[in-house]
Amino acid sequence: MIVGLTGGIGSGKSTASRLFKTKGIDVVDADVVAREVVAPGKPALEAIAKHFGVDILANGELNRPLLREIIFNDPEQKNWLETLLHPLIHKEILQQLNTAKSLYSILEAPLLFENRLHDLCEQTILVDIPVELQLSRASQRDNTSEQAVQAIISSQMPRAEKLKLADIVLDNSADVATLAHQVNEAHLKLLTEAKSHQP
Ligand code: ATP
Repeated sequence: MIVGLTGGIGSGKSTASRLFKTKGIDVVDADVVAREVVAPGKPALEAIAKHFGVDILANGELNRPLLREIIFNDPEQKNWLETLLHPLIHKEILQQLNTAKSLYSILEAPLLFENRLHDLCEQTILVDIPVELQLSRASQRDNTSEQAVQAIISSQMPRAEKLKLADIVLDNSADVATLAHQVNEAHLKLLTEAKSHQP
């Protein structure tokens, strides 16, 4: 059974994932997979260099800030890139989830709903905090301005919509111990679900 785990920037996805991992649950991180498919030597990196020119590489690696800038200003290029990468990312995510040994496994993805990765999942978890806390926690963690964090929040699906789509909501507005308590409860519920899915 695959369980999607999402939440806006700074909501506490990594923190929640760590707590699930301590329970022996396998976690696949969509962001890590997205970097793996464009690692040096991978065909996707070659295709990107051919399309955008070799200036998109820095020391043989993808120059991510430059690519981000290009696609931010050009929807057609963004579409080209997504058409190339999304199927590869989906395939690699499924391959990694297939090797998972735990009774259920977690797919952690900031853009789970936006990129329709929840189609791969039987259940979804939203780590939820108010926008004010997103601004303070993410800007403090990344040593960046609240304005920069707000720009990312604005590019993500609004909190209210994500709340409607999620099966399980973890409220991370209090301390980590309170989140851990909710992870315990969700884990027990998911174990029961996973057992009922078994042949
Ligand atoms: P991103 O999508 O930006 O990678 P994330 O959703 O994975 O973020 P985390 O990195 O887990 O979020 O948490 C964001 C920051 O808030 C981190 O510095 C983390 O230590 C802190 N944090 C997480 N949960 C809590 C909490 N309950 N109380 C206080 N700080 C917290």
